[in-house]
Amino acid sequence: MNDSALVLFSGGQDSTACLAWALDRYGRVETVGFDYGQRHAVELEARQRVRERLMTEFPQWKAGLGDDHMLDIRSFGAIGDTAMTSDRAIEITDKGLPSTFVPGRNLVFLFYAAALADRRGLTALVGGMCETDFSGYPDCRRSTLDATEQALNLGMEQTFRVETPLMRLTKAGTWGLAKALGGEALIAITVEDSHTCYLGERGTLHAWGYGCGGCPACELRQRGYEAWDADGRPEVRS
Ligand code: ZN
Repeated sequence: MNDSALVLFSGGQDSTACLAWALDRYGRVETVGFDYGQRHAVELEARQRVRERLMTEFPQWKAGLGDDHMLDIRSFGAIGDTAMTSDRAIEITDKGLPSTFVPGRNLVFLFYAAALADRRGLTALVGGMCETDFSGYPDCRRSTLDATEQALNLGMEQTFRVETPLMRLTKAGTWGLAKALGGEALIAITVEDSHTCYLGERGTLHAWGYGCGGCPACELRQRGYEAWDADGRPEVRS
């Protein structure tokens, strides 16, 4: 039982790195995605593409990759009423957060994920939360996740561990972690098949992936990639 994990998997760059990290470490890995009313089916399609290509190109991980789950939490998304769930423009709010931020989103994800993990007999909950680049997100901080882990274990009489392999990495470091786990083949999957753009744009393939190139998610991804590339594409262990 200690050899199993549930990965919070959106099909984005960060959760693709987390999925590879879990497959490298655990004998049994399942994935969970959340439909909280995103405007773009693009993100949900990316999940299947990444999963399928990982199984094709990394036969050593194929046996470990189990079921994929999709949970409908649209009622939560409706509360957020942000750029991710409506047509409001993406902007920086007076709290210093992008208007795409749904308050407490990662807490909700973890509670749903833990209930699912309990039913599936999975012990580790793996998420791409990171406090390095986006310290404005209070539900991405390790201190928040430690408290959440404790609440889950008390409330469900469990021994879950909330694993956050990207917590201390920069965005450049996340590319380096992907390289360490799966070489340039995993970089290619991340570039071509994962999706991060807030606008759901997939028209143009940049060196760092598909995206509009102008939204905060694209800018972060591009900056991280270019810094990593300029540094000689080093491997980074987490
Ligand atoms: Zn974009």
